[in-house]
Amino acid sequence: MNVSPSSKQHSILIVGGGTAGWIAANLIACKLPDFDVTVIESDDIGIIGVGEGSTPHLKLFFETIGIADHEWMPQCNATYKNGITFSGWSHKPGYDSYFHPFETQVDDPFTVPLFFKNIQARMQGFDVDARPDRYFLESFLSQHHLGPLPDDSFPFGVAFGYHFDSGLLGKFLTETAKKRGVKRVEGKISHVLTSASGAIHQVVLENGESITADMFIDCSGFRSLLLQDTLHVEFKSFKENLFNDAAVVLATPISSPLPVETKATALSNGWAWKIPLQNRFGNGYVYSSDYINSTQAEHELRAHLGMLDSDTEARHLSMKVGRVEKHWHKNCVAVGLSQGFIEPLEATAIALSLNTVLQFINCYQEGGFTNQYEDVFNQDINKRFDGIRDYVVCHYKANQRSDTEYWRDNAANPHISERLKAILHLWQNSGNFAAEMYQRNLYGSYNPKSWACLLAGYGVFPNQPLRQVPDPKSYQLELDNVADFLRRCGLNFKPHSALL
Ligand SMILES: Cc1cc2nc3c(=O)[nH]c(=O)nc-3n(C[C@H](O)[C@H](O)[C@H](O)COP(=O)(O)OP(=O)(O)OC[C@H]3O[C@@H](n4cnc5c(N)ncnc54)[C@H](O)[C@@H]3O)c2cc1C
Repeated sequence: MNVSPSSKQHSILIVGGGTAGWIAANLIACKLPDFDVTVIESDDIGIIGVGEGSTPHLKLFFETIGIADHEWMPQCNATYKNGITFSGWSHKPGYDSYFHPFETQVDDPFTVPLFFKNIQARMQGFDVDARPDRYFLESFLSQHHLGPLPDDSFPFGVAFGYHFDSGLLGKFLTETAKKRGVKRVEGKISHVLTSASGAIHQVVLENGESITADMFIDCSGFRSLLLQDTLHVEFKSFKENLFNDAAVVLATPISSPLPVETKATALSNGWAWKIPLQNRFGNGYVYSSDYINSTQAEHELRAHLGMLDSDTEARHLSMKVGRVEKHWHKNCVAVGLSQGFIEPLEATAIALSLNTVLQFINCYQEGGFTNQYEDVFNQDINKRFDGIRDYVVCHYKANQRSDTEYWRDNAANPHISERLKAILHLWQNSGNFAAEMYQRNLYGSYNPKSWACLLAGYGVFPNQPLRQVPDPKSYQLELDNVADFLRRCGLNFKPHSALL
């Protein structure tokens, strides 16, 4: 049987029904209602089934397709996420752990200036507390297990993400897309046919069925059946910047009170995530197979979780870290793992998928459904990938431990971008880090506050004897005022469990 486009004006075929495929299907069905959209997925191959944390972009996605938290969260065992606690990335006394909030559009004028002021004082050798934890509302909320939704009368918004079961999210998004008219075809693609122009013409399934379309979205995961396998678009590996290439995953029972944060704990040769869902913790150890093998990694994760005697099975995965040179080539756009992946430390994969699809829809519409804006699109998406890569690399470059070769090699890694070099130079040498970052257009995908949280959180300060601030009373008063401000703000937020 040959399946051809229906009576609708244009047809789009999405190859792959993982999170990326169904995010793309929902957005396209919503934004391009005149398009005929089909998703092909293979039950035999299945989905990768990891990826349980998000940035605030997931909220934007659900807002765009008109679905409220109470409609999807219970069905996906989802919880709220105020940010990430990084633990064990620094062995500097006093810097063993710090909480990192998300970026907010409006930073409150009471806490952010004081944070930067004390960073400056600490750089100059004054004995002040410049760790991010005591300056941000999200940290306060997380410490007290409070969710990110304030009472209606509260004037500040708090940026938040989510934790979710990726398998259940996929099922939920399949149903919402189908309700919007998206067709689902189950089957395994055996080969892909191209036309004389080199564009994709047809995909052929193992059962002989063939499907054609005007535009193809490659969401086939690390395989990248269309963009890399068929159109031979080059893949740029980030391996020399980011060493981790494997993960081992294990679930543990949930605890009470329910955390409102992801925990990222540095281990001997990588880091472990701990993600609270409504019914369990998702855990995983992301490591470099150049430094530790899968058996050793699983043993270390089990020891870290206190599960050495447990027979709960672990899952092992390998990761291809990097990005394609072009995300849109001819009549194909890659979304999700098929376009690239930056290891999951900042949980940015969904954000990148969302940005890719929305940007593509804009460019496609603006260009009258041609590839007029393909180059602009590719440059923009590459910039996003590289910006996130630099930020994630900075976690490794700035680590303050020297106990294993892995951490020493990361700190000494010369393969960092010119931009990241400039940011690290600015951190140590600038009179006003935030202002100079903006002036020199260095911040990329993260604002100066985020960069400052990371570097101050790990204690990247000059190693020099500290001296007392000139006016200890006013220093203490400012800190007390912030603590009181955060405590009073906190009265407007409910316990995390009460929001679910
Ligand atoms: C260890 C790890 C941790 C991660 N953590 C996070 C995180 O915290 N947050 C986050 O946002 N992301 C995270 N990710 C990334 C996240 O898992 C993916 O971005 C997300 O699941 C989307 O995957 P995908 O849809 O691109 O691919 P997949 O889930 O692999 O889906 C591929 C689809 O293509 C189909 N397919 C493939 N070949 C064929 C064929 N021949 N015929 C028919 N169908 C085919 C499959 O059946 C499947 O439906 C993590 C990834 C890893 C590896």
